[in-house]
Amino acid sequence: MIDLHTHTFHSDGTLIPSELVRRAEEAGYEALAITDHVDASNAKDVVQRTVEVCAALADVVKLRLVPGAEITHVPPPQIAELVERVREWGARVVLVHGETVAEPVAKGTNKAALTSRIDILAHPGLISEEEANLARERGICLELSARKGHCLANGHVAKMAFQTGAPLVLDTDAHDVGDLFSPNSWWQAALGAGLTRPEAETLRANAKTIVSRAMR
Ligand SMILES: [Zn+2]
Ligand SMILES: [Zn+2]
Repeated sequence: MIDLHTHTFHSDGTLIPSELVRRAEEAGYEALAITDHVDASNAKDVVQRTVEVCAALADVVKLRLVPGAEITHVPPPQIAELVERVREWGARVVLVHGETVAEPVAKGTNKAALTSRIDILAHPGLISEEEANLARERGICLELSARKGHCLANGHVAKMAFQTGAPLVLDTDAHDVGDLFSPNSWWQAALGAGLTRPEAETLRANAKTIVSRAMR
């Protein structure tokens, strides 16, 4: 399993990165991205800490670790610039916290994210067909989320992705013990979003592509 969206206590998760990684290893993950919430106030510090811990653990764990960041509730006109900064500071996978139905995310966030140099638009909520087309053109993955609240729009996101050809990934958005995937919960989330098994397999391939790109 690959999971490209997780949190630690460097933002609002409960676990220290080392425990999150240890639990992912135990769950049989092949790759994990640590993507704490960042805005202008904490981005440099959080990304650098994440890069540091991923480097320290890289040689001693069985899974591939990818330092990342989730740009969260940043005003849309400021998103593109912060994406460039977090990449400079070492983030290898960059997410934007999309217009989930579960939070009052600023309108225009999906659009601004899709014109920035990101890898994944996290939980994009009731994304428009025009935005999904933009994701396809730019090769940005739309995210199906296993997280409560965000997951309410999974069926819609999957429909928009298959209608337009935009790539999809499936992530946990883990914040706590028990949020990581098991093989069973991965399939439940994928099939529950209305995907067929072959469609679900394309999500694994897309996640793998992001990890390979990040490790280059
Ligand atoms: Zn969070
Ligand atoms: Zn998140």
